[in-house]
Amino acid sequence: MRVLIVGSGGREHALAWALARSPLLGELHAAPGNPGIGTLARLHPVPVSDLEGLTRLAAELDTDLVVIGPEAPLVAGLADRMAAAGIAAFGPSAAAAQLEGSKAFAKTVMATAGVPTARFAVCDTVSAAHAAIAEADGDVVVKADGLAAGKGVVVCSSTAEAHAAVAAALVDDRFGVAGHRVLIEERLEGEELSLLALCDGEHVMPLAPARDFKRAGDDDSGPNTGGMGSISPVPGIDADVVADIVAQVHRPVVNELARLGSPFRGCLYAGLIMTADGPRVIEFNVRFGDPETQVILPRTGGDLLALLARAAGSSLAGCEAEPAEAACVSVVVAARGYPDAPELGDPIAGVDAAEEIEGVTIFHAGTAQGEAGLQTAGGRVLNVTAVGPDFDTARRRAYAGVDAVRIAGSHHRSDIGRAAAAAERVHA
Ligand code: AMP
Repeated sequence: MRVLIVGSGGREHALAWALARSPLLGELHAAPGNPGIGTLARLHPVPVSDLEGLTRLAAELDTDLVVIGPEAPLVAGLADRMAAAGIAAFGPSAAAAQLEGSKAFAKTVMATAGVPTARFAVCDTVSAAHAAIAEADGDVVVKADGLAAGKGVVVCSSTAEAHAAVAAALVDDRFGVAGHRVLIEERLEGEELSLLALCDGEHVMPLAPARDFKRAGDDDSGPNTGGMGSISPVPGIDADVVADIVAQVHRPVVNELARLGSPFRGCLYAGLIMTADGPRVIEFNVRFGDPETQVILPRTGGDLLALLARAAGSSLAGCEAEPAEAACVSVVVAARGYPDAPELGDPIAGVDAAEEIEGVTIFHAGTAQGEAGLQTAGGRVLNVTAVGPDFDTARRRAYAGVDAVRIAGSHHRSDIGRAAAAAERVHA
């Protein structure tokens, strides 16, 4: 099969890495890709925002399957364009992608389908938002309705903070039209969990549970980021819990979208908080998570290309993810100044040495090939990922990999997988 991956981050590198292992793969292409992906695929300089260019490229290459990584082109209708051109694509239609493109739409679907989620109000005006904040039982979370590149959510600890978050979206126009409508949501307590599932419009095939770490600093201190690391599996989330969440969340949502005439084909990502009253959805994504994919795929056995092709074009009936490695830990090495003002263009050294460590794979997230060699080209530069028979081993290997990498001024969290390793020791 000739496959084209759309995107340029660590998620797409992990997808390329997993697809490259498939016996079905003939040629792998990526647009625009990155230097890491370039070791596995032929790169084409078409940006993810150029829907027409991507569709033309897929047709010219006579692509058998397009795998769409990021949310923006999905919400903009890239899968629909591919379908119109007769090209199979993994990723939902624009109509189904509204699950991520509009939080208000997602809440409506969940209400109709009876999916447990945080209580909320949708507000278009400051006065309505203030009334919702006043009516809420405790603290709230203020969310921009539309796509805001992961920056549209403010978890508030006071009414003043909530009012400021509302003003940023509705008055100061911080997120453009994406923030002209906000959700005021109850602030939930509990452990977070990401449960991704492959869907063919009807069937749901859950992948390994994962957790990402969003704050910049150890012990969840510091500002929110796109994600500073991830682990899979998640302590306490066994096969029964996964089956229960799929039954309460993924299946009813897939059924409801089919009923609405927008069947969901692609990766349905449920962001959950495990409260004392059970799981509650805090967000849906309509694509693989970043950096969760980097720890899920090394733990997924079997043929990923066969599964994605089935999800896109036929049926996942009877498919199950085959378990592979026991534990996986991925640590993000971030550029100097990330997340506020990342400095780009710094040389990157030590990637080869890190990859010589047993179990370690490095996914490129924000790199570019400069004249003098590999250099930083994004805030999150590398995902140093390691598998192992347990979290202790995976974590030790991942951090040995981090130590082998040299980027001036870079930073990383030192606690990714620490709690999971401790939980494992308690159970041992
Ligand atoms: P999101 O951009 O939707 O992933 O949200 C970013 C982060 O905000 C999540 O990873 C959670 O840590 C937090 N969050 C979102 N919604 C809630 C909620 N209802 N209660 C508590 N925390 C939340």
